[in-house]
Amino acid sequence: MSVRPRLLATGFVVVLGLLGYLVPAASGATADPQAERAAVRAKKAQLARQLDTLTATEAQLDEAAVALDDDVKAAAAQADAARQAAAASQAELEQAQQAVAATEARVLEMTHLLVGRAVSQYMAPRAGAGGDLNGTDDLAENARRQTLIDTVAAKDRDLLDQLGAAREDLMAQQKAVEEANAKTLSRKKQTEQRLADLKTAQQEKAKLAAATEKRKQDVLKEIDDQSKADAALTKIINAKAPSTVGGDSAATSTGCIWPAKGTVTSEYGTRWGRLHAGIDVAAPTGTPIWAAKAGTVIFVGQESGYGNTVIINNGGNLTTLYAHMSRFGTSDGAQVKQGQLIGYIGTTGDATGPHVHFETRYGGVPRNPRGCLG
Ligand SMILES: [Zn+2]
Repeated sequence: MSVRPRLLATGFVVVLGLLGYLVPAASGATADPQAERAAVRAKKAQLARQLDTLTATEAQLDEAAVALDDDVKAAAAQADAARQAAAASQAELEQAQQAVAATEARVLEMTHLLVGRAVSQYMAPRAGAGGDLNGTDDLAENARRQTLIDTVAAKDRDLLDQLGAAREDLMAQQKAVEEANAKTLSRKKQTEQRLADLKTAQQEKAKLAAATEKRKQDVLKEIDDQSKADAALTKIINAKAPSTVGGDSAATSTGCIWPAKGTVTSEYGTRWGRLHAGIDVAAPTGTPIWAAKAGTVIFVGQESGYGNTVIINNGGNLTTLYAHMSRFGTSDGAQVKQGQLIGYIGTTGDATGPHVHFETRYGGVPRNPRGCLG
């Protein structure tokens, strides 16, 4: 074989070798602000998961709901941005692939041209084989043939130059395709991660919404059942702690201590249109409950919604009420000092988690215990 077909064969190997580069290189992971933000978000979601919805305060539930709302919004926006970036990157890749295809076609075209020329050049001298080189005609023919060969050789050099340039173009474009492809893969990975984050955030949000709804139903049931028992309580209080006119009401406006050590899970006030007549203090079952103020125990028993309940007549129109006890620690008619043990925290009556429902009533009418707690 002549030199040129070997060059051509080498050219094909180069082209085939370059095609092998179409398989993209894997891109490495990088630490960036987006990763940090994702970590913060993951931490937030984790905290929301760890939030015990039975003992969480309403404020904590609200705060977690807001945090997860923000989380979902941010994740959705970032997922959109990532999708757009991935689409742009894909377009970039396709453009680069088209350019490579065009150059490949050009290289193949030139290669075919060179093959054709090489074959004809190889064949041309053979046409005169066997002729007498000493003859005048032959001399003229040889000179003509030499000129032809020189011309063809010059054209082939040009073609080889062009082929070399085309191969360089192809290599540069191949590199661009590789880079575009790596970018697309990296963006795709980021998009998938953000979508996963969004999904997690949405799941946490749904869980929290369900927990909040359950809390609402629990609170409403407690309030409703306690409201039904209100007439009975008023009867007890009026009978055993009758309202007095002109008493030392000023002395009753302050001076209570918290009836237990725990977490305030529900404040006194209106919930979904109904009054929650006390403050709920959550603590583990068996936690001591203390008399908020000195007085006389006027009721030890069960009431609908309240469960095991103790009522103390603290004088000056004030009665204090302690509900959901697991066990009593006092008896009807007992004189108790402030801070004296009167029972233990439990879940009797309508109580999802262990807590004491603490009420302060003035003349039998509930008021916010925080007024007495100071
Ligand atoms: Zn309550």
